[in-house]
Order: sequence, then structure tokens, then C-alpha cells
Amino acid sequence: MKCEELLKILNEYVDGTVDPAICEDFEKHTAGCNPCQVVVDNIRKTITLYRNGQPYELPIPFRTKLHALLRERWREKHPVK
Ligand SMILES: [Zn+2]
Repeated sequence: MKCEELLKILNEYVDGTVDPAICEDFEKHTAGCNPCQVVVDNIRKTITLYRNGQPYELPIPFRTKLHALLRERWREKHPVK
């Protein structure tokens, strides 16, 4: 999996709708790619903060915001040359 592919499925990953097989590729990529790892760590922390013991169901506005934030973070880590 490439960084660009990871970004494409990032939204699904956040929503928890990503295919388990793809999820595995996702985990493998982040394990070997520091910039992506930082971004994914950020997502995890944000989601954990939000969930705080609640059932995992992100409201749409929060989700939209999170997606935008992720793209921003990702761009910071993967500057376009
Ligand atoms: Zn990457």
C-alpha cells in the first residue's frame, strides 16, 4: 500500500467501515511508514477522546471535521513537491 492509497481509505478507517483485509494492509503500511503512523496515531487519540467509553458512533459533523483535519495533517506530513 502506498501513502496515497492509505489516505483514500482513511475516511473508511475512521468510520470503521474498512474491509478487514484492507485494514491489515493499512496496519502494515503504518507500521513501516512514520508520517502515516503519526497521522493514524492522531486519529486514534481523537477518536478515543471522543468515545470516552461511549458506543462507537461518530456524529456526521464531527466526522466531517475529523476527515478535514486528517487531510490537513496528512498534507503536512506528505508535502506535495
Ligand atoms: Zn505512508
